[in-house]
Amino acid sequence: MSDAYEPYMPLLNRIKSEGKCLDGGILKVDSFVNHQLDPLLMMDLAKEFVKRFADKHIDKVITIESSGIAPAILVGLLLKKPVVFAKKKKPSTMNDMYETEVFSFTKNRSYSVCCSKEFINKDENILFIDDFLANGNAAKGIIDLVNLGGAKICGMGFIVEKSFQKGGTILRNLGYQVESLVIIDALDDCKITFKA
Ligand code: 5GP
Repeated sequence: MSDAYEPYMPLLNRIKSEGKCLDGGILKVDSFVNHQLDPLLMMDLAKEFVKRFADKHIDKVITIESSGIAPAILVGLLLKKPVVFAKKKKPSTMNDMYETEVFSFTKNRSYSVCCSKEFINKDENILFIDDFLANGNAAKGIIDLVNLGGAKICGMGFIVEKSFQKGGTILRNLGYQVESLVIIDALDDCKITFKA
């Protein structure tokens, strides 16, 4: 798979028409990703992820609640593989689990994420899918959980990557195949600048 960036144009056009910039470099896409969901677009995005990771052996899809669940479950459906989501609150019913800390860019605080040991197995190849890649903290938390279980991240797919934050560079430098369907270079002055 080449490293060349190709935007997924239906998504880019949708962001152009419905995306809103918030202060602090946040893109709001509440009408089709983060609040209301567009299942048809989501399925198209899932197909695109499957295409981009076609050369990978994938045993399982992992995401983090809550906005990653919709794209992840559709990728899992297409691959016919299970989908596990890391939980942000430790359920009282869960004792045997892997746990790590994640710093939230949008909430400006740390929180712990956990996953039952039952659902990350040694030597599994796991694909991480999420809505946004900013500084890469959620991704680093998922890498921790997967490593704790002795499994391996075989790729990372994001609906939107913001290149003015450092997550993409960090993850690619660590050697991960990172596929972002749209990359945004800047969100200054209420203007969305897409990577060419
Ligand atoms: P990171 O962990 O890479 O710093 O940030 C990724 C997480 O923060 C994503 O799971 C997403 O929920 C949230 N996030 C980061 N930037 C944005 C943004 O611009 N818009 C929205 N809606 N969520 C974001």
